[in-house]
Amino acid sequence: MNGCRVVGRLAPSPTGALHLGNARTFLLAWLSIRQQHGKLLLRIEDIDSPRVKPWALQATIDDLRWLGIDWDEGPDSAAPTDIDPKSLIQSQRLPRYQAILDELISQGRVFACTCTRSEVAEAASAPHESSMRLEGPIYPGTCREKHFSPQELNQLQKFAWRWRFEEGQVVWHDGIHGPMCARPAQQLGDFVVARGDGVPAYQLAVVVDDHDQQVTEVVRGDDLLASTYRQLALSDFLHWPSPKYFHIPLIVGTDGRRLAKRHGDTRLGHFREQGVAPEKIVGYLAWTANLQPTPSPLCAQQLIGRLEWSKLPRGPTTFQGL
Ligand code: GLU
Repeated sequence: MNGCRVVGRLAPSPTGALHLGNARTFLLAWLSIRQQHGKLLLRIEDIDSPRVKPWALQATIDDLRWLGIDWDEGPDSAAPTDIDPKSLIQSQRLPRYQAILDELISQGRVFACTCTRSEVAEAASAPHESSMRLEGPIYPGTCREKHFSPQELNQLQKFAWRWRFEEGQVVWHDGIHGPMCARPAQQLGDFVVARGDGVPAYQLAVVVDDHDQQVTEVVRGDDLLASTYRQLALSDFLHWPSPKYFHIPLIVGTDGRRLAKRHGDTRLGHFREQGVAPEKIVGYLAWTANLQPTPSPLCAQQLIGRLEWSKLPRGPTTFQGL
């Protein structure tokens, strides 16, 4: 065990360049751990292979370092560390995820589902707008009661393992949004845990990693609020303690939509190429998180001691330029 030390993680997916929105989340995740003298891991979430870009990992590391964000253990750690650096890359851990998936299968907590995305979309009830963000269509339960023999499964071209949500209300506490409450079976629907060939979905990999790496604090974007219900279902079933969650509101464009290319180039790499100083970005991000009264430039280290979760805005921040 790690005693009482807080353990956090930065968990980028190398699917694109870091922009201001991701940067604020990582800055706050870093700051929280540094303020508490905890340990911070860098974990690479690269199992969504079609979306992974070969250049994005190094670019993310360069961008984070440029901002002044560091970590104690990562896949790039040279010095001996508590954790095998390779275990901080999800694509290196497939056998571990498979072992947990086998447990879920043998306990009947997941079922084989042959529905395609478009079948789910057609059969599903309308997407649900709740206290959570609008998500995709809710799985209508088409394959829930089907039973495939091992031989039948072998013959299936494609299927997925879906978690079977139990009825009932789930309550948990978010460090920014406060009490959270939903009926996941109705409001989220059974979710994919892995592909039939064993490649895990994000939901499974993240729970197994946070447990194995003894993560006690998760700071991430609030587009993942709904996923927390899924991850809590998995960790509860496995009798694993769950970390404390802090879901940071997103930065959006003037049209209220999540920051993207249409809002102009907000990639950190772009600002760096333009000669913008990292202190200017950090100062701006700190201001939007109410860590300082003006957007005046400052370096990440100067923020240590200033983070108070209760002061963070609960809603999205509109980006109107640096
Ligand atoms: N890899 C995820 C992302 O980049 C973050 C997952 C998490 O923090 O749980 O969106």
